[in-house]
Amino acid sequence: PADIDAALLLRWLDAVTSVIEQEADHLTQLDSPIGDADHGANMRRGFRAARTALEQEPPDTPGAVLVAIGRQLISTVGGASGPLYGTLLRRAGKALGDAPAVTAAELRDGLRAGVDGLVQLGGAKLEDKTMVDALLPALDAFTAALDAGGGTEQAVTAAASAAEEGATATTPLRARKGRASYLGDRSIGHQDPGATSSALLLTTLADTVRK
Ligand code: ADP
Ligand code: MG
Ligand code: MG
Repeated sequence: PADIDAALLLRWLDAVTSVIEQEADHLTQLDSPIGDADHGANMRRGFRAARTALEQEPPDTPGAVLVAIGRQLISTVGGASGPLYGTLLRRAGKALGDAPAVTAAELRDGLRAGVDGLVQLGGAKLEDKTMVDALLPALDAFTAALDAGGGTEQAVTAAASAAEEGATATTPLRARKGRASYLGDRSIGHQDPGATSSALLLTTLADTVRK
C-alpha cells in the first residue's frame, strides 16, 4: 500500500528535529576529536530551519516535503553535512514526483537516488568512515526486508538497525573523506559523527512509522 504520505514525513521532521536537539551535544562531541566540533550545531540549525519553514507552509506530497527539507539544509548549514544531506533529500524528493502517497519500495527507490546523489557529490566509498557507511547498509537492509515480504514498518526498522550497526562499525576505520581524513591514522578509534546522525534520521523514521 502507498502508506507514506506528506503527513507522515512531516511527523518525522518534527520528531527528528527534537531528537537532533537532544543529541546535538553528543554529535558535536563525536566531531571534536576527528573534526571541528560543530556537527551537532550544524544539524540543529538545519533541522530547526526546516521545521520552521515547513510549519509555515506544509507541502502536501511526500516528495515536496523531502525537497523542501533538503533545500533548507543546503541554505542554512555551512558544514559538509548540509549540502550532503540536502542533496540526498532533494534528490529523493524529486524521485518521488508529485504522488500524494508512496509505497515503501518507492521510498526506497527515492532514497537510493538520493544516496547516489550524495555519493556523486562527496565521492565517498564504503568504509571511508562517513555517513555513507550508515546509508548504504541501510538501503541494502531496506531492500532485503521488502524482498522478504515485509511492509513499510519492517523495512524502515531493518534500515534503522543496519544504519546503527554501520555507524558503530566506523570506529576502527581510518577516514578517507572529509575533515577527519586530515588526521590520517589518528582518526582511528572514533565513531564518525555523520554516520551517527544518519542512524538517528533512520531510527526516528522507524519510530515515526511504528507510532
Ligand atoms: P564539517 O566537516 O564541514 O564541519 P559536519 O561536521 O557537519 O561538517 O559533518 C561532518 C560529517 O560529514 C562527517 O562525519 C562525515 O560523515 C560527513 N562527510 C564529510 N565529508 C564527506 C564526504 N566527502 N562524503 C560523505 N560524507 C562526508
Ligand atoms: Mg564538523
Ligand atoms: Mg564545520
